[in-house]
Amino acid sequence: MSNQLILALSKGRILEETLPLLADAGITPADDFGRSRKLLFDTNLPDVKLVVIRAVDVPTYVQLGAADLGVAGKDVLLEHGAEGLYEPLDLGISRCRLMTAGIVGAQPAHAKRRVATKFVNVARRYYAEQGIQAEVIKLYGAMELAPLMNLADEIVDIVDTGNTLRANGMEPRELIENISTRLVVNKASMTMKHERLRPLIERLRQAVTARLPA
Ligand code: AMP
Repeated sequence: MSNQLILALSKGRILEETLPLLADAGITPADDFGRSRKLLFDTNLPDVKLVVIRAVDVPTYVQLGAADLGVAGKDVLLEHGAEGLYEPLDLGISRCRLMTAGIVGAQPAHAKRRVATKFVNVARRYYAEQGIQAEVIKLYGAMELAPLMNLADEIVDIVDTGNTLRANGMEPRELIENISTRLVVNKASMTMKHERLRPLIERLRQAVTARLPA
């Protein structure tokens, strides 16, 4: 293992909230960040590099040790599974809810409920726990469309304001999990690079604590 620390960040909406938190913890990306098509960036800390990848890929990078640390939503972590990962810190950003949702007022029409989602593992586990028979249908986007097109009775999706659901004639139903963004660490790195990782995690912890209401 090299002495460098690789931190994997989730692209998109989580990234926008992660960068100010990293800055509070004293980690800032090099000047070319966001202004090029590069995906691997230096930071102000000589031994810390950043990769910016799709959120669903962050657990894989960290689990397999391609990155030492990662920033990922709990939704993605639940779906991926926790093997090979430590989750030492709730970053408290990008809060949302993982919920079931359906067409306003509609009852599931099938004995076996048809559920469209990109969170197939979470959905299978949830409906099994509820004792509800479910056929889980994997989609990669626009889940809200599935019940309208009679592809599914229900969806499992991320809800923030609920505007996306309302705009499509749908309503949130059951809460599966409250979601926020987490710091994850490769288990082997945690042992082998402990001396370097510990202060970094501590700085992030302080940055998170400093944001909590007094
Ligand atoms: P909203 O209309 O505010 O309920 O937002 C719902 C949509 O925004 C969902 O379809 C999600 O894909 C996306 N979304 C909202 N919050 C998050 C988050 N924290 N992480 C990932 N996606 C989110």
